[in-house]
Amino acid sequence: MEPIIEGKVKTVYQGVEEDQVLIHYHDRVTAGNGKKEDYPVGKGEINCDISCIIFEKLADEGIESHYIQRAGPGLMRCRKVEIIPIEVVVRNIAAGSIVRNTTIPEGKRFAPEPLIECFLKDDEKDDPLLNDARIMAMGYNGQKFMMMSIARKVNVVLKEIFSSIDLDLVDFKLEFGAYDNRRIILADEISPDSCRLWKKGTTESMDKDLFRKDEGDIIEAYKEILEKLNTQNTESK
Ligand code: UDP
Repeated sequence: MEPIIEGKVKTVYQGVEEDQVLIHYHDRVTAGNGKKEDYPVGKGEINCDISCIIFEKLADEGIESHYIQRAGPGLMRCRKVEIIPIEVVVRNIAAGSIVRNTTIPEGKRFAPEPLIECFLKDDEKDDPLLNDARIMAMGYNGQKFMMMSIARKVNVVLKEIFSSIDLDLVDFKLEFGAYDNRRIILADEISPDSCRLWKKGTTESMDKDLFRKDEGDIIEAYKEILEKLNTQNTESK
């Protein structure tokens, strides 16, 4: 199969149906825009499974995404969309770039509403922070409002999902895609690679920060998250 897009940790292939793609999650983890990397065995399959469960739970709450079904180990069948080149980051607790780039201390809680930021999706430009004027000039003002509104709803659902498995949702990144020219839906993945998750009431990471900061084994942490999500799914059926 010819890839349509080869990303850092996923490859997108054309599906049998013209309007579908197959996304393959690799056993690869990167940080610092690809400067640091590793190949943890099993990571692709675990992240794909976590992402499938989360997209299914979001669909149960009426939040549409590109996800159609799990198509095998590390494989996800999705609707083909045109990715909007804006990454939306939702923050409930300050960590990461907002702490590095402002005077806001790590651990500050953004409540009752999360703080939402938009970044350009462009590795060559190092994903710079965008502002409203730039988003407007890029021609994405309408999409921005739609994405922010979906992002707030996703936050409510994700906070609940992770809280129920004893994790605090610190922040997460969303990507969106357009299809039929105008409809905007969630795309990409939602996994511990794209979320910051702290053990409830602590600042102990259960996400990609373990790799970024050399603080522990991501496979062990990601596996624990997947097992808890699976157990919870079985119990609720
Ligand atoms: N994030 C991501 N991909 C990116 C940038 C950020 O998935 O290209 C996620 C990151 O894992 C975290 C959240 O978005 O959960 C906020 O990241 P931040 O802006 O704090 O940057 P970082 O500290 O990860 O460099």
